[in-house]
Amino acid sequence: SARILDGRTLSKEIRASLLERSLRIRNKGHAPGLAVILVGNDPASKVYVRNKSKACGECGVMSKVFLFPNSVSEHELIELIEKLNASNEIDGVLVQLPLPGHVNVRNIMGCISVNKDVDGFHLYNVGGLVVGGTIFPPCTPYGVQLLLETAKIEVSGKNVVIVGASNIVGKPMALMLLQKDATVSICHIKTNDLSLYTKLADVLIVAAGKPGLITADMVKNNVVVIDVGINRMPDGSITGDVDFDNVKHKASWITPVPGGVGPMTVTMLIENTIRSAELRMSINNLEVTKLEKQNQVYG
Ligand code: NAD
Repeated sequence: SARILDGRTLSKEIRASLLERSLRIRNKGHAPGLAVILVGNDPASKVYVRNKSKACGECGVMSKVFLFPNSVSEHELIELIEKLNASNEIDGVLVQLPLPGHVNVRNIMGCISVNKDVDGFHLYNVGGLVVGGTIFPPCTPYGVQLLLETAKIEVSGKNVVIVGASNIVGKPMALMLLQKDATVSICHIKTNDLSLYTKLADVLIVAAGKPGLITADMVKNNVVVIDVGINRMPDGSITGDVDFDNVKHKASWITPVPGGVGPMTVTMLIENTIRSAELRMSINNLEVTKLEKQNQVYG
């Protein structure tokens, strides 16, 4: 049976070290701060925001949540973001998605200062991923990468198959692992024969939002399985996209849901926020070019 990639335990360890980093920043006279903007009443979004605030608390990061009704205008959101961009108390600005249909997501994300874009969705950060390196890696793929690295799972030269091609998970994940010299395939809803690809995978990363999508007959022996999916079932339980109970007998490693990728995502958000604060404390007149050097965006 597969070994478990335990995101909950790894997250705890990382959060303890983040708290230490946070205290060092506080000793220099600044409390790291994350601003979270939440629009509307989506229950899942509320849970995510609550988890993020709780994780901030554990890591010595001050979190401020800004609530808006669904009727909020793009203008009001942009006005707040500009204030937060200029605030010395705030190191990270995050807009919880989804936003209501009348708000243009790209307009909003484009307003967040690149230096505070701790979700990594600003086009500058996205572009950084394409050319190798970025200031703030998007949290879910960043968390997956750390899970793999911690378990010493090598991806160089391996067949990595990603199911799901979203802008927040599948695409950035593909770019990050390509950068590590994996042979990456990306599958999505229009892929003709999904199992043709999944059977090739040495590492299979699934982020489709379809419970039970990946069954044991679709994977080869000793595959490493990362299940990003979070699906709420009619009985209230949470399940991933992988048939865990059967796939675990063929896999060498597998993430549980819950307790795999989920906690890592939140932890990497805090890591990005604290790194932002560290950069702000050591650099005056923050400029993208200086951040580039620190992070060797084009290195
Ligand atoms: P999305 O809906 O934006 O994208 C889903 C992708 O999967 C699309 O590219 C789609 O083409 C593909 N897809 C859907 N059905 C498919 C099928 N039957 N076969 C092949 N491809 C299929 O979703 P997202 O925002 O990327 O999230 C994906 C899942 O991951 C969701 O369950 C979400 O809740 C979860 N998620 C988890 C975390 C975490 O922290 N663990 C973070 C983000 C998203």
